[in-house]
Amino acid sequence: MGSKVKRELLKTPRGTRDLLESELSVVRKIQKTAQEFSSYYGFQEIQTPHFEHAELFGASLGESTDVVEKQTYTFRTRGGDALVLRPEGTVPAVRAYFEHGLGSWPQPVMLYYSGSFFRHESPQKGRFREFNQFGLEILGEELAVAEATIIRVCSLIFKELGIETSLELNTLGDKECRPTWKKELVAFYRKHFEKLCKDCKRRFKENPLRLLDCKEPSCQEFKAKAPQMLEYVCEECKAHFKEVLEFMDSLELPYRLNPQLVRGFDYYTRTVFEFVTTGKTEAEGETGGPASPSASQGGKRVELGGGGRYDYLAQVLAGKDLAAAGAALGIDRIAELVSSRPEEKDRAQLLKTERPQVFLIQLGMAAKRKILSLMEDFRKARIPLAQSLSKDSLRGQLRLASKLGVEFSLIMGQKEALEGTIIIRNMDSGMQETLPVAKALERLKLKFK
Ligand SMILES: [Zn+2]
Ligand SMILES: [Zn+2]
Repeated sequence: MGSKVKRELLKTPRGTRDLLESELSVVRKIQKTAQEFSSYYGFQEIQTPHFEHAELFGASLGESTDVVEKQTYTFRTRGGDALVLRPEGTVPAVRAYFEHGLGSWPQPVMLYYSGSFFRHESPQKGRFREFNQFGLEILGEELAVAEATIIRVCSLIFKELGIETSLELNTLGDKECRPTWKKELVAFYRKHFEKLCKDCKRRFKENPLRLLDCKEPSCQEFKAKAPQMLEYVCEECKAHFKEVLEFMDSLELPYRLNPQLVRGFDYYTRTVFEFVTTGKTEAEGETGGPASPSASQGGKRVELGGGGRYDYLAQVLAGKDLAAAGAALGIDRIAELVSSRPEEKDRAQLLKTERPQVFLIQLGMAAKRKILSLMEDFRKARIPLAQSLSKDSLRGQLRLASKLGVEFSLIMGQKEALEGTIIIRNMDSGMQETLPVAKALERLKLKFK
């Protein structure tokens, strides 16, 4: 008889993966670091659903952006509603702001979120179709202090994780000045239209700003020569951008102006920024240590996070004015960098061998039943415990215990189970002692304090 499920169905769908303990511990560490810094700086957590109404994203991200055109997972429910797996976190946060009347809170409202997002992209190293993001939003603040705070918190998180990033900044202007630039951009690209790639020909018609998003090598020379927004900004936008840069100077945050930085969504106005790396981590040092997996990205520009100001998004979503700025960090790529560090590998190894300190051995049914309730006492006493309820021989269990490198084994057989006692065995010396269960627990508790 063949198996019921085809072999390829026993693998996760393309672009998704399982995370096992060793990888999860790195992800959790990054999320925890990000949460700690964010709450310290006054951000409050928000959780929004994994799916939203499909229309929510269409209008707000821009119908002709790559994400909305090709990358969203939309589906119809049995009831006929069109829903979409959330491709990003800013739109849901703004939706929640209006749904819960957060406008009546003291402004600005500062939110952070952490979780899975979904885009149908071609999978690459560090890029998945279900991916992990950590995001920060400051809603209801028109001053440059909003961008500055977000950039500051993001860079502190990177620093704490020991990841070297460089900050790139650009301004996209606002509805006053951007149209002039757009007109110049279109005029410039019209001259080169025949030489553009297929996607750019489409972008030219539908959404010319996206021309600067093109990754095709043949389009790079046009991007480099294209008119830059900075030459067309109005006085207000210029003053705002100058303020952002002054914040960077006073925070001693080095940055690079990148005139081709446009980000993927239509909702950005004025400031946009990205944290990029060439794959080098602090641990590898300035001169570059031994080649690590991350170094194989070979100086390629890797975006670890980014964001910007989105003053018009609330107009599109709710017909209301709400100045705001935000950023999102790509947790998967950051995790890849963090876990490629040699000392992190050692730590993961240590965790595996050091975590259980006591091995619980049971012999016979009576002991097996007792031990299940005993484990809860150990959990409450916070004593890391390993056990094997399936192995029955004493020798097999002792072998497993020494493989795990535990200091002590606890042995409960038929006799001990009936008497309410347990044997403590020192794994190094082989010395054994029989004690009442409560006493054994007390002793181990003192040992591992
Ligand atoms: Zn192109
Ligand atoms: Zn302007």
